[in-house]
Amino acid sequence: MEFHSFLIKYGEIGIKGKNRYLFEDALMHQIRFALQEVEGSFRVHKSHGRVYVDCEGSYDYEEATGALSRVFGIVGICPVVRLESKGPEPLKQDVVAYMEERYPDKKKTFKVESRRSDKRYPLTSMELNCVLGEVILEAFPEMKVDVHHPDILLHVEVREEIYLYSEIIPGPGGMPVGTNGSAMLLLSGGIDSPVAGYMIAKRGVALEAVYFHAPPYTSERAKEKVVDLAGLVGRYAGPIRLYVVNFTEIQLSIYENCPHEELTIIMRRYMMKIAEYFAKKDGCLGLITGESIGQVASQTMQSLAATNAVCTLPVYRPLIGFDKRDIVKISEKIQTYETSIQPFEDCCTIFVAKHPVTKPDLERIEKSEMKLVGKIEELVQTALESVEIIQIRS
Ligand code: ATP
Ligand code: MG
Repeated sequence: MEFHSFLIKYGEIGIKGKNRYLFEDALMHQIRFALQEVEGSFRVHKSHGRVYVDCEGSYDYEEATGALSRVFGIVGICPVVRLESKGPEPLKQDVVAYMEERYPDKKKTFKVESRRSDKRYPLTSMELNCVLGEVILEAFPEMKVDVHHPDILLHVEVREEIYLYSEIIPGPGGMPVGTNGSAMLLLSGGIDSPVAGYMIAKRGVALEAVYFHAPPYTSERAKEKVVDLAGLVGRYAGPIRLYVVNFTEIQLSIYENCPHEELTIIMRRYMMKIAEYFAKKDGCLGLITGESIGQVASQTMQSLAATNAVCTLPVYRPLIGFDKRDIVKISEKIQTYETSIQPFEDCCTIFVAKHPVTKPDLERIEKSEMKLVGKIEELVQTALESVEIIQIRS
């Protein structure tokens, strides 16, 4: 069946009162962005308090619905057949043809729900419901009416044209990206941080990202994996500016000067500081990490507190209470899992100690860091100045 439009159903953004149009505009912007990669030409517009995507000419249906189902803020996508406005008699024939083609299996219950925004139309909504219901029953005697829980709820909307639709493809929910500021995601090549970015973006937050690599200890391929992951998260989150920071000298300096069991914590603290620098420079309102309590030594409550202590921006950790298998499930759903499990070295694992502290004491950590004073400032400065910026999905 050929669909000419999609009616976009949105949930939470409907409740925003006077701000509603801002949310709708952000939603339309994100829809246009998502459809850029789909073959075909589309017109996204608002009409009678609803958002529509009109498909102009031929297009790829699977790709189009796939792209729309990644736009946060959408709760449902209804494929619409558009008919030229016509009197009740030809409309009856079109409705029967629609049911015939759409539902090969006729052992179904249905209900017709009409809306008439063109009040000049000769029949009222109630009359349309009756007339169209009758004609469907006549054409398909196996079908039955059920006004409470129909298998098929056929919407008939009469306006300049007539819209028929009866299916809702679920959208991802959430809020349109861009309606809630932006945040800086610490993106590693692992499973967790892409999921964390996805979850915060789903609440309407635009993303930037920072990746710390340590050449030659980490390879170019490990970096490409992170670029790939940013691209996959960007299918939902939109364009992402990715900062790639060369962390080698900082890591070596920590390795040479600090107790080995504290390496990971001190390294994580420097990552957070540098991430916060870029975040503030770009007006981000927070940092995002993929941490979850107790997952590894650097994510105990004490370790998280020690890492957190270097930041003044809020740090969002959407996975904080998740078990690994729950995180894996989401990463499979959003299709980052296969990329995340590719075996490339991570800068955290290369310098990792055999027995890292699990209950770091902040004062002791700060004392250890004093050994870096006088050398580390320049190394951090160099890392900031030599950053590589990669624009993902512009
Ligand atoms: P992930 O699966 O996200 O890599 P992880 O379980 O490996 O997480 P850690 O290595 O302790 O956990 O990292 C915790 C968090 O710190 C990550 O989720 C990520 O947000 C950030 N992080 C770790 N390594 C890097 C890195 N090389 N570049 C950027 N961020 C990083
Ligand atoms: Mg990791």
